[in-house]
Amino acid sequence: RPRVSARIGGISESATLAVDSKAKALKAAGRPVIGFGAGEPDFPTPEPIVEAAVAACTDPRNHRYSPASGLPELREAIAAKTRRDSAFTVDAGQVLVTNGGKQAVYQAFQTLLDPGDEVLLPAPYWTTYPESIELAGGVPAVIPTDETTGYRVSVEQLEAARTPRTKVLLFNSPANPTGAVYPPEQIEAIGRWAVQHGIWVITDEIYEHLVYGSARNVSMPAVVPELADTCIVLNGVAKTYAMTGWRVGWMIGPTDVIKAATNLQSHLSSNVANVAQRAALEAVSGPLDAVAEMRSAFDRRRRTTVELLSAIPGVRCPEPEGAFYAYPSVQDLLGKEIRGQRPETSVDLAALVLEEAEVAVVPGEAFGTPGYFRLSYALGDEDLATGINRMAELLSEAT
Ligand code: PLP
Repeated sequence: RPRVSARIGGISESATLAVDSKAKALKAAGRPVIGFGAGEPDFPTPEPIVEAAVAACTDPRNHRYSPASGLPELREAIAAKTRRDSAFTVDAGQVLVTNGGKQAVYQAFQTLLDPGDEVLLPAPYWTTYPESIELAGGVPAVIPTDETTGYRVSVEQLEAARTPRTKVLLFNSPANPTGAVYPPEQIEAIGRWAVQHGIWVITDEIYEHLVYGSARNVSMPAVVPELADTCIVLNGVAKTYAMTGWRVGWMIGPTDVIKAATNLQSHLSSNVANVAQRAALEAVSGPLDAVAEMRSAFDRRRRTTVELLSAIPGVRCPEPEGAFYAYPSVQDLLGKEIRGQRPETSVDLAALVLEEAEVAVVPGEAFGTPGYFRLSYALGDEDLATGINRMAELLSEAT
């Protein structure tokens, strides 16, 4: 019998790991690697949030177990925040506080899927989705999209992929890794289609506040209220408040589903650290001015990123409208000669860019779409320009 179970042994190694560990090794060896890999804001957590956590440390209430579902005041505040930001009315009983949005993703699939249930999964997708689906016994039905539609899936594509086993659609806008934001009409059309066919929607809204230009993001159950009974909303403090390391997220759904997911969480991890929950309470109850500042910095970097990438021959970069990622196609560079090498895949090309230009990017293989690079522009303006220029210099040697 194998030492590791088939279920866990079957989790595939992330394609990001190869580049990431190589980047770290090069950095450790003193090479000036510029990293576009990390999916986290480079800003500090706002001071009032940190202060709330400091105060929480000395409050003995926070030294003890608290309800697995989350601190009652935080669940209330998340419900209020959801009404404020999404115009979606929910009560505290529909909120489950999780250890980051990632635990909410895992628990949502565990709670909804039986073996063989299919999940419609538009690609490029965030790497964690297919693994979570498979760990729950589900089957990802991947629907490819590309830059010609701004990496957005249409109702026609969804309908073509629907089968009698389809139970869930995973929806993510603004999206990781593409930065795509769906227009409100398209979100409404997809929501109506889901209601019509009795398909659940798990909508991951963790980048809700990071939208740029004229783009506007709406929450699917807010524009399609009939969906509320078959919808789970995922969210968290990580991206909005620069709190990736604090590990507070949540899932919102119908009371029976949230109750079931809470039972799972009560055996898996119990309550999220109380100190982190107190910090999150301050974050979601407070103003959105820190995220407004971050948004304008990200917007500036976004424009620089697109401008510099688009100037590289063979690179096509649609303008991302949300999150903090750009997702250019590098397909036209594959198979060409660059410094004596001929990379055939985006994994090979990313490795060459790392070795020769000392720039780390994540190849599209990690997101179900080979032939692309993901660049996170959540890094300082100077590093950003230096990094892309170094990459541009190398790639323009392609013949
Ligand atoms: N959903 C998406 C699309 C993400 O990109 C991330 C983080 O990268 C998460 C959820 C989870 O974030 P966290 O677990 O840090 O709250």
